[in-house]
Amino acid sequence: MMQHRILGRTKLKVSALGFGGIPIQRVSKSQATAVVKRALDLGINFIDTARAYTTSEEIIGEAIKGQRGKCILATKTAARTVDQARKDLETSLSLLGVSSIDLYQLHNINSDEGLSRVLEKGGLLEMLKAAQREGKIDYIGITSHRPSVLVQAVKSGEFDTVMVPLNYIERTPLQELIPLANKLDIGTIAMKPLGGGAFANAVEALKFALANPVSTVIAGVSSVDEVEENAAALNFPLGLNEKERIHLEEQAKILGRVFCRACEYCQPCPEQIPISSLLRVDTFIKRMGWENWYRTNRDSIKRYERCQQCRQCESRCPYELPILELMAEKVKWLRKEYGSMIEA
Ligand code: SF4
Ligand code: SF4
Repeated sequence: MMQHRILGRTKLKVSALGFGGIPIQRVSKSQATAVVKRALDLGINFIDTARAYTTSEEIIGEAIKGQRGKCILATKTAARTVDQARKDLETSLSLLGVSSIDLYQLHNINSDEGLSRVLEKGGLLEMLKAAQREGKIDYIGITSHRPSVLVQAVKSGEFDTVMVPLNYIERTPLQELIPLANKLDIGTIAMKPLGGGAFANAVEALKFALANPVSTVIAGVSSVDEVEENAAALNFPLGLNEKERIHLEEQAKILGRVFCRACEYCQPCPEQIPISSLLRVDTFIKRMGWENWYRTNRDSIKRYERCQQCRQCESRCPYELPILELMAEKVKWLRKEYGSMIEA
């Protein structure tokens, strides 16, 4: 049974489990539409996407036709100029097929300097406030992978919500950001509860995230099975029992901090190398088996061989992962384990 919580001072009543719109861009349109519709049927009303998630807004727009009243729509712009952000907003409105967006967020503001530029006269915040007066957006939010930047954003009093990664490994937001946001009545949106698929058991990972005092936890989903499995987490008492805690602790130790969260900020790669798929290849193969993985990722090694070492991906990764080094390790492992089965 879906639970609802209040999204801070917006007073919007959002589902405790929200819909993360990154993974639907990687599956067929019909599958993606089915996933969004199933989420709505299960009572998930908080739908989060972004201009940067390629087809995600368009798919969501299609899927929610006739059901606008059932969902609270959140999207984001990664633009850093007022003109581009304005264009992004108009594109999002058009692709989502709506006249206004409930929550419009500044995407991935990862430094104090970046935040200062947003807040300065003539900056992005001013443009968003104008869009708010025009009735194109209702509330303004900000997202970041750095809790310390969001603490400053909360203190500025200018944002209605903050979005930050929160999972068993990334617990820093629980120290200062979440308590402060709650005290100031700012909505808190937890992203990456499954660590980009790094945790083996989605229910366990979600039970951990949902037990925290956040407004909503958005989990990325790409299949109807996944959205159903995630929603089932709410059928259990939230929080971890001792066995689950030990299980997550073991995984956290293995993963360390250097692991891919599948956020896709490293894209686009000029050679279309599926970076996050390669970085998580061992986890995928363990879960879905070599044949299933290879069927859908047949060309990923050939693409990897075309890497120009330009390091654009590394400069964009918010976790500062040494992507080239990690990819080389994973491909070496693939060749060692499955070399004879990889087509030349
Ligand atoms: S370094 Fe390689 S993987 Fe990274 S963006 Fe450049 S070509 Fe793509
Ligand atoms: S390599 Fe970094 S930017 Fe790319 S998907 Fe993984 S965590 Fe995200």
